[in-house]
Amino acid sequence: MVFQERMLHGEPTEARLEEILQSGKEYLPRAMHMTDQNSSKSGVEPIKSHFLLLSSIKAGLGSQSPHRHGGRPNISIIPDQIPGVHLSDFITFMTQFRIIVNGLQPPEIIDLHTDTEQRIVELLTKVLSHHHPLDIPRVRAFASFEPNDVSSDYLEQEASKGKGAFIQALWTLYAKSNLYRLAYKAWKRHGPQTLTTWTLLAQAVLDGCYAEKWPDTVFQVPDVCSICLSPMHWPEETHCGHGFHLQCLLQHLDVSNTCPLCRAPNPLRTP
Ligand SMILES: [Zn+2]
Ligand SMILES: [Zn+2]
Repeated sequence: MVFQERMLHGEPTEARLEEILQSGKEYLPRAMHMTDQNSSKSGVEPIKSHFLLLSSIKAGLGSQSPHRHGGRPNISIIPDQIPGVHLSDFITFMTQFRIIVNGLQPPEIIDLHTDTEQRIVELLTKVLSHHHPLDIPRVRAFASFEPNDVSSDYLEQEASKGKGAFIQALWTLYAKSNLYRLAYKAWKRHGPQTLTTWTLLAQAVLDGCYAEKWPDTVFQVPDVCSICLSPMHWPEETHCGHGFHLQCLLQHLDVSNTCPLCRAPNPLRTP
């Protein structure tokens, strides 16, 4: 995880760790008690991990070297390396931003005609003027994938629930952590950030996740492919009326040119 790796490198002295913990301690209890149902399922929790690590550093302070504690070497906190930035300000911002991000609601009306990407770029440019095009948080590629293409049990499980759960899972897994990474980058480049634009940006990114060209199956409850038992977003329909993942069906046709369900011959031939 890029964000986490960037946050945790270098090797501060024990005195410096004390100093960091002193300045950040008033924010730690709240941060450590934050809960987020979505993230806790995903396992992608850069910010939370950061706070948990702070607490483990704290526990390791004293006679024991923090570098040996928990078997994690090279522990450092990156705001230490941002000139003019106070760790406590950074932690306050990230804590509040995370609470806001976790409280955002999907759009009630998905407007496919509005250019959400343009809005994301505009807002991102305000807080991070020279960003790379790859920095723009979006989940477009996933719209043309089947859930089992992604190699994530969590995404596959959420996809099978339907009713947009797949999109919500992508938001949790990819978009949120991307936003946290960008916020860190903005702090590092431009110093202290305010929540106003970041909140608008986060909502635009969430809206953008929903505005991708999803098949209707994502918003209903997708059928399961009877070959691989995974949900189907883009079922390939045979002329006998049965749906399968195209990939699964082609593999089956290599073995037998019949429908895997009803054994009709040449199932992909147009009737
Ligand atoms: Zn399949
Ligand atoms: Zn059939």
